[in-house]
Amino acid sequence: MERHDINALAARIEGPVLLPGQEGYDEERTGFNLAVRHRPEVIVGAARAEDVAAAVAFAAAHDLPVAVQNTGHGFSVAAEGGLLVTTGRMAAVRVDPEARTAYVAAGARFEQVIPEAARHGLAPLNGSAPHVGVVSYTLGGGLALLGRSHGWAADRVRAMDVVTADGRLRHVTPDAEPELYWALLGGRDNFGIVTGMEFGLVPVARLYGGGLFFDAGRTPGLLEAYGRWTATVPDEMNSSVALIPFPEDPQVPEPMRGRHVWHVRIAFTGSPEDGERLVGPLRQVGPRLLENLRDMPYEQSAAIHDDPPVPMPWAADAAFLADPDGDTVRTILEHAGPGAALPAIVELRHLGGALARRPAHPNAVGHRDARFMLAVLTPLTGISTADAHAFLGRMFKDLEPWTSGRFLNFMGHGDTADQERTRTAYTADDHQRLTALKARYDPRNVFRLNYNIPPQTAR
Ligand SMILES: Cc1cc2nc3c(=O)[nH]c(=O)nc-3n(C[C@H](O)[C@H](O)[C@H](O)COP(=O)(O)OP(=O)(O)OC[C@H]3O[C@@H](n4cnc5c(N)ncnc54)[C@H](O)[C@@H]3O)c2cc1C
Repeated sequence: MERHDINALAARIEGPVLLPGQEGYDEERTGFNLAVRHRPEVIVGAARAEDVAAAVAFAAAHDLPVAVQNTGHGFSVAAEGGLLVTTGRMAAVRVDPEARTAYVAAGARFEQVIPEAARHGLAPLNGSAPHVGVVSYTLGGGLALLGRSHGWAADRVRAMDVVTADGRLRHVTPDAEPELYWALLGGRDNFGIVTGMEFGLVPVARLYGGGLFFDAGRTPGLLEAYGRWTATVPDEMNSSVALIPFPEDPQVPEPMRGRHVWHVRIAFTGSPEDGERLVGPLRQVGPRLLENLRDMPYEQSAAIHDDPPVPMPWAADAAFLADPDGDTVRTILEHAGPGAALPAIVELRHLGGALARRPAHPNAVGHRDARFMLAVLTPLTGISTADAHAFLGRMFKDLEPWTSGRFLNFMGHGDTADQERTRTAYTADDHQRLTALKARYDPRNVFRLNYNIPPQTAR
């Protein structure tokens, strides 16, 4: 790549074009997960869809792989060379209250959409953390806080604007481009860079939600009890449980400080009275350290999981899981319970309900029949990535009898992000269809710095 090539590219781009060593390069490539960063040959800080198209066309002409980054919450494979498109400057959000839809540009975060939709008594199908990027979350399926009651975020997508590997900007709808529509929703970043997305909102203004906190040392049976309880609740009951090793830190509330704590999270879309009644059996499991269940405006729903908004380094993996019986629970706790080799946050989300239904317009989001999603996250403070990946590898190997494949949105980076694991996110038929479509839309695998679906090779 010559200097005059870069100058010609920069002349076509409204946002900045940055090379290694230039001011702004390090800041631009740094995302929310501080464990790893892209090291591209060139960064295009896209300010509009045309910038994305020019960047991809440039990469194709120079045979460079393309990586994409919005917030950096979902880092998978690091670019060593290649071209990185950052989308944070494309942050427009528009809500149409009549049509009950939102249109977001590639860099929008849910913390922008939630208040805008709430003004009209509406909500997006966001996940636990409002600082996550809307587009990538949705392309990965989007396991929403309201998933059981309202389904996958991907199922609400009406249209996408996408730049494909040939540098073309296409408007994708279920009617106009059904194959690309199907592949993008679930196939994520393998088929192009989505520059904007229109999706349906749901009429949810209030929730009965919050958390119950238990001392894991005094309630060893909580996970099994939670599993049994989930079999008794209606679709309006959205919930998850996390096992969190809280540090001995004065900033941690006193009852949790220095303990392993079960945090049961509730987001119930029925009445507060029904919510109270349904949660009753969970309160019987043991004494709570703390409880903050309440009737709340949807706008405050980020408080339910209370995910920390500050960037940090971590490693993670995630898989779909069967009902947590005694053997499953024992295996989880042996690896990641009190006394674990490494500190780990374990999260089990209850699926089913609307997540199990087929969408009006088919897409590639898999594992609709799964009962639970298990995610494990290891903070990398004083722990090497290699040690964390070895720990996660051992745990998920031992859990294989009860897991049924990976969930892209929580799959982690580096060693946990290879093509074999990615394949397990889909049925064999869907994966084959995805590889055939990859061969059609990205035959040179320009978009390979991701959970990669390789192009099908000619037989
Ligand atoms: C604290 C936390 C809470 C979370 N909660 C949930 C949850 O409740 N439910 C859930 O389903 N997921 C959840 N996630 C996972 C999250 O949805 C994914 O990590 C998602 O990929 C993040 O998108 P991003 O744009 O914020 O991150 P980025 O790291 O910027 O993007 C992730 C990847 O998506 C691709 N990408 C980004 N933008 C585009 C684009 N415009 N077009 C095509 N590809 C693109 C890129 O390959 C990029 O590497 C959570 C993650 C964290 C860290």
